[in-house]
Amino acid sequence: MRWSSTFIPTLKEDPADAEVISHKLLVRAGMIRQVSRGIYNYLPLALKAIRKIEAIVRQEMDRAGAQELLLPIVSPAELWQESGRWDVYGKELFRLKDRHERDFSLGPTHEEVITDLVRKVVRSYRELPINLYQIQIKLRDEVRPRFGLMRGREFIMKDAYSFHTDMEDCRREYEKMFDTYKKIFTRCGLKFRPVEAETGAIGGSLSHEFQVLASSGEDALVSCNSCDYAANVMKAEVRPQDAADRDPAQVSPSLKKVATPEKKTVQEVADFLGIPAEKFIKTLVYKIDGSEFVAVLVRGDHELNELKLQAALNCREAVLADETQVQQAAGVPTGSLGPIGLKLRLIADQAIQGIRGAVAGANVRDAHYVEVDQKRDFTPSLTADLRLASAGDLCPRCGRGTLETHRGIEVGQIFYLGKKYSEAMGATYLDAEGRERPIEMGCYGIGITRLLAAAIEQNHDANGIVWPLSIAPVQVLLLPINYKDKAIREACDRLYENLLQCGVEALLDDRDERPGVKFKDADLIGIPLRVTIGAKALERGCVELRRRREGTTEEVPVEEAHKKIYSLIKTALAPGERQ
Ligand code: ATP
Ligand code: MG
Repeated sequence: MRWSSTFIPTLKEDPADAEVISHKLLVRAGMIRQVSRGIYNYLPLALKAIRKIEAIVRQEMDRAGAQELLLPIVSPAELWQESGRWDVYGKELFRLKDRHERDFSLGPTHEEVITDLVRKVVRSYRELPINLYQIQIKLRDEVRPRFGLMRGREFIMKDAYSFHTDMEDCRREYEKMFDTYKKIFTRCGLKFRPVEAETGAIGGSLSHEFQVLASSGEDALVSCNSCDYAANVMKAEVRPQDAADRDPAQVSPSLKKVATPEKKTVQEVADFLGIPAEKFIKTLVYKIDGSEFVAVLVRGDHELNELKLQAALNCREAVLADETQVQQAAGVPTGSLGPIGLKLRLIADQAIQGIRGAVAGANVRDAHYVEVDQKRDFTPSLTADLRLASAGDLCPRCGRGTLETHRGIEVGQIFYLGKKYSEAMGATYLDAEGRERPIEMGCYGIGITRLLAAAIEQNHDANGIVWPLSIAPVQVLLLPINYKDKAIREACDRLYENLLQCGVEALLDDRDERPGVKFKDADLIGIPLRVTIGAKALERGCVELRRRREGTTEEVPVEEAHKKIYSLIKTALAPGERQ
């Protein structure tokens, strides 16, 4: 590739709407341009990096025995109605009508389409197991598309679906995909962590996400400092032991109502009364599945995990009520809510159980109760683990270590689905005895374009992108100081040809630009190896080889440069490719 004839529209300034570094650099390096919110053009350099990631994914999926196919982006509403997701997927599902007014969707994921295919084709246990994958554009009308390629409305995903006769076989494939994902992300040069995860709109009962660790990550993760427990904070369990002070011998002083004028938040009341937040009972009113209002109780220093609340109540939706709704449902202003005498069903986090000497709203304006004793003063109708895990919590798995928190970018997720889709859509097989049984399923996704952005979040410096070699758009950049100079041009062209012949991907910056501009652009687009061809070194028969990541430079004889580069690349890429 010659730069002068390649479409690399670099920019000097960060785009105004870009908040994270990968978004800024992808635009500035001339790799992407926005078409509409969350919808991008991938320009040649980005596409090259995307194709590299896809090649790694394909190679490892094929090695694991999966087979590639391609499903349509558009699918009929009937399939989604069969699984029940036409109604529950909500606004994230792009919907459209054809000329006959029939409903269709643009695929956000493909469980329905593939289950339909398999139920029509697979008859017997002899045809199972099977693992089918595709690499394709996905569409999701995200509420908040942002951060460039990290959360788009249109993005590229690898999605795989496996079908099995029984749960054990499906779990075996899950483990295999787990290992395959570790290989893929390692080969892509990422620092990542598999974590236990919630299953969201996809469903199923067991799931892991693969999180690229980065401060800009949208996900909060916890991990144990003593064992290998790690989970998305939305999934992380909290040990019941850290609940309350339960000394049965102690007798509580009687309940007292105190004035707390104009004090509303836990912190305001805590400061006013001089009592720490962990002694507070926070009361939150939630609207459940659009109808019933319930009061949810968590300790003042804890935060509610809404997914745990939904699971505990077995509901689809739990929405925090606004002030008007609270007033209507409970007859109490928000800042004064408390469990004692409240006319709503009480749902308590386990840390509320047995709490004593606590503070809670008195259900009248500007007053709180102190010396609240849960057992004596109120009885929740349900007590469960409802709060978000946080740093310092005891590990729910080993009970010895404590939890640390991290930020992560979810680049992949695997799910054990069981019979969720096969039962809803009637995907069955005949076992050896001729009995009809539902197929067991798993599914496995990787966000290809999100991975590209995540790689930049983890690999950049003040001057630009620092591509991991395995996914760099090209491996070597040739930078002639002055391409018009005959000696330089000839040396440069010869090296370029030699590199191509060795199978090395090279980009030759043949532009008539000042060296300063070329060096800046070289750093910006982040090619791992840069060869500078200048008059002085060339007089000694040498060129300068610079490694972008290490920042090291060395002089190399021009005639041997291609061999040196070839062997550097071969050694660096070999471990992954040989696996
Ligand atoms: P998130 O929780 O970030 O919304 P998700 O859990 O809904 O993602 P999955 O259904 O698990 O996503 O999709 C598989 C993979 O596709 C994700 O792990 C992620 O890498 C990628 N992905 C999902 N949504 C987007 C998006 N809006 N933009 C880019 N990539 C995405
Ligand atoms: Mg996910």
